[in-house]
Amino acid sequence: MDSCSKSSVRDSTSSSPFETIIFDLDETLYSEKLGIGAATKRNIDAFLMEKLGFSEAKASSLRVELFKSHGSSLAGLRAFGYDIDAEDYHSVVHGRLPYHVIKPDPQLRTLLLSIKQRKIIFTNSDIIHATKALDRLGIRDCFEQIICFETMNPNLPNSTRPDEFPVVLKPSPEAMEIAIQTAQVDPRRTLFLDDSPRNIAAGKAVGLRTVLVSRSHNSDDLGTTFDASCTTSLSVTSRCRWDPSPIVWFIHISYSIIHNMDTLFMHNVHKS
Ligand SMILES: [Mg+2]
Repeated sequence: MDSCSKSSVRDSTSSSPFETIIFDLDETLYSEKLGIGAATKRNIDAFLMEKLGFSEAKASSLRVELFKSHGSSLAGLRAFGYDIDAEDYHSVVHGRLPYHVIKPDPQLRTLLLSIKQRKIIFTNSDIIHATKALDRLGIRDCFEQIICFETMNPNLPNSTRPDEFPVVLKPSPEAMEIAIQTAQVDPRRTLFLDDSPRNIAAGKAVGLRTVLVSRSHNSDDLGTTFDASCTTSLSVTSRCRWDPSPIVWFIHISYSIIHNMDTLFMHNVHKS
């Protein structure tokens, strides 16, 4: 883990508007093209079929419904009274993922190591998945802290009935507050990067400075829910020497921000 103390970070980043960078993990630190997100959806459907007996069609539609209404199938099922054990759920949904497709990313590691700010992971995933994915990428030691499912739901293993402790996940305001409290950050001096527009909107609502990481969203449709995005043709494109996948966009945007090249960033900034 990063050995930098908060005070030394403040000293070394005094010229930067940011003290801390909070990163989502899945499809933010690696590309959606790896298919991990699609595999996760298939595994959720498999869980709903194998454990609860839903048909394939019903499992798929229920997964979508529960994501919209409760943020995840686990959260929705427990809210509706299904006594689903979180570890059991994650052992299927994440435990069966094709982790071999996640390869070490030395370019990302070099970039992360060049960033002097505190770096924190904030993911809805369980700690086993988070550490596996970060280890596969070769970047786990780049982060000071991992805020994950277990951080947001410490009482879940002690629940006596499914709806006793509602599952807390991004993008709920409670989840965002837990992240801010756990990381002990000033939201206005914290940059939050995530590939989910819902999560970015929630981050902005609690005062974080936000960057939407993905080229697949239409920034015009998202209004002012984020401070900046990686979706449009910023001047940093000319600096891009690789295929401009979401992760590379993310790298260049982050690099620009963190090294105070804010004019590159300002092309797509929506002030709050
Ligand atoms: Mg994500």
